[in-house]
Amino acid sequence: IPAGIPADTPADTHCPYCALQCGTRLSRAADGAVTVRPTPGFPVNQGGLCQKGWTAPALLDTPDRLRTPLLRDAGGTLAPAGWDTALDTIAGRLRELRARYGPDAVAVLGGGGLTNEKAYLLGKFARLALGTSQIDYNGRFCMSSAAAAGNAAFGIDRGLPFPVTDLAGAEVVLLAGANPAETMPPLMRHLDGPELIVIDPRRTPTAERAALHLQPRPGTDLALALGLLHAAVAEELLDHDYIETRTTGFDACWRQAREAWPERVEAITGVPAADQRAAVRMLAAAGRRYLLTGRGSEQHSTGVDTVAAYINLALALGMPGRPGSGYGCLTGQGNGQGGREHGQKADQLPGYRMITDPAARGHVARVWGVAPEDLPGAGRSAWELLDSLATPGGPRALLVFGTNPVVSAPHAARVARKLAALDLLVVADFVPSETARLAHAVLPVTQWAEEDGTMTSLEGRVLRRRAVRTPPPGVRGDLDVLHGLAVRLGEPAARYPTSPRAVFDELRRASAGGRADYSGISYERLDSGEALYWPCPAAPGPGGARAAPHPGTPRLFLDGFAHPDGRARFAPVGHREAAERTGPGFPLHATTGRLLAHYQSGAQTRRIAELTAAAPEPEVEIHPDTAARLGVGDGQRVRVSSARGSTVARARLVATLRTDTVFLPFHFPGAGRANLLTGTALDPVSRMPEFKVSAVCVEPEPAP
Ligand code: SF4
Repeated sequence: IPAGIPADTPADTHCPYCALQCGTRLSRAADGAVTVRPTPGFPVNQGGLCQKGWTAPALLDTPDRLRTPLLRDAGGTLAPAGWDTALDTIAGRLRELRARYGPDAVAVLGGGGLTNEKAYLLGKFARLALGTSQIDYNGRFCMSSAAAAGNAAFGIDRGLPFPVTDLAGAEVVLLAGANPAETMPPLMRHLDGPELIVIDPRRTPTAERAALHLQPRPGTDLALALGLLHAAVAEELLDHDYIETRTTGFDACWRQAREAWPERVEAITGVPAADQRAAVRMLAAAGRRYLLTGRGSEQHSTGVDTVAAYINLALALGMPGRPGSGYGCLTGQGNGQGGREHGQKADQLPGYRMITDPAARGHVARVWGVAPEDLPGAGRSAWELLDSLATPGGPRALLVFGTNPVVSAPHAARVARKLAALDLLVVADFVPSETARLAHAVLPVTQWAEEDGTMTSLEGRVLRRRAVRTPPPGVRGDLDVLHGLAVRLGEPAARYPTSPRAVFDELRRASAGGRADYSGISYERLDSGEALYWPCPAAPGPGGARAAPHPGTPRLFLDGFAHPDGRARFAPVGHREAAERTGPGFPLHATTGRLLAHYQSGAQTRRIAELTAAAPEPEVEIHPDTAARLGVGDGQRVRVSSARGSTVARARLVATLRTDTVFLPFHFPGAGRANLLTGTALDPVSRMPEFKVSAVCVEPEPAP
């Protein structure tokens, strides 16, 4: 673990939270206190931070910071233990369970906030030290639908295939299911100039700034996207030359969408046909335009098709791969992009390679010094993995790194029951999250300002995370934890480096030639200030062997898409309903999302006084007309129930919602958890759960 920089020497790093990865300059005073300010000149945040970024240093010394390993004793209490005792105990239990039930009896759940180095070593540890196929990560709940749709359409998935700063030059930006004014406020600096079209069931702060707001019924996003394509065809707005020369599959795509008349789509979505046509006209008339999707498009059992339908629209209008125009996905988690590239996904190996591809297996096996047949096959996706825990044939042990599924997974009560039934639950975290509290063993690990490494932002730029202070005594880095466990499981020590730089150098070799090629990126180049976006192969750039190293690729697809023929693919997607519909027992739609003050499960932001003061508890947003019908007053406690369970929270009456919809933030634990309501229907391709639409009823809760 690095000792950190000397006191009063500023270090440039990045915010611990979202995928925008705002540049932050940290300083450490002699007493150890860390202060933060925006990194001057960093183009993404341009001198701004949101309140989460400004208050992030408070997380370092949160009063309940974990500072020693904990083992559950015979009386059921989590009691302090030494590191050797904790690692020996965990490794011993893992050996027993593997011997009794086989290697797939042990599972691993990673996170989209882990550095690239941690994500890489975690995937290697799972497949070699544990020998299990059962590894996935929480990004499955975040952007897996856009990843699948992007790969199919373009042959590669990079959230934004262009720098964020390009957005400022647009005339029109369409945001489908994204609310950056609350989730990543500095992004709005780049959206001040363009006219915005916002698609969201809520009139969010982003929608307030839009020239046009389309407010579909939750769960009908796919129908709306098809309707927009239909309007583009009917209004003769297609870019026929682009379709002819740069794409394939339009005719099959159109056959699926030709019934999506805007009037028919209006009946399904509630979005007036005139607004559908107006949106398409605005987008088509602009010379420079972007279409961006977010979680609102993705978190459905139709998520991949919904994103694909938006990509179809962008392709039909000739947007992707054009200077000043394009399609992108606003990835959510801090390393949501890198987290899906380096091998912690159930079906992938480092370099964004498919684990079922013999050539990919051969390449990674060579880098790891094993035979290809030593690598397990594909495992279960995150929800399927959680749901299989403690079932006959399912995993008996789970190792959790950097995620809190007791709050953030769908059908959260069921997840908690599954975790409680395990023979062994190990959680590595820096705070006692709700998941850690159920564990048999808790391992205290470093956090952002205490560690070196790299993160990959939503624009595919690889960024250096730098340590600014020494971690508290008793805390270890995740790489040290993986090394310690691997050695105890009989692995060669050299196979699990504890230096982030050494892990990154191996990651570069493993990624070489893959879809996300990092082989030309080094700590030295990043530390010299180069802005490097993958793919960045080790081979020189244009000019041959004497040329400078490859400069990276800020903008993808300008010369062609990543499919062998260089063409993008239209997807033939047709209308499908959401998995769950409202009915007499559950007449309202519930949709979930984020607040300005909090991040993901809230395990970090709920520990910061300013953020807790801004949003202390969950509130259910209800339209005043709906509340009046239900006899609910502003601030009154209500019970929201779905087929899975109930959550109790105060009502907040807002006229920014549809009258058939309620909204719940998912950052809060306990009886106010939004995910006590959400269902487990999965997208058939991405295996994304349907977070964005549940059928619920709301009733006043009797006073306690
Ligand atoms: Fe951090 Fe995201 Fe806020 Fe920037 S927008 S300060 S990266 S949470």
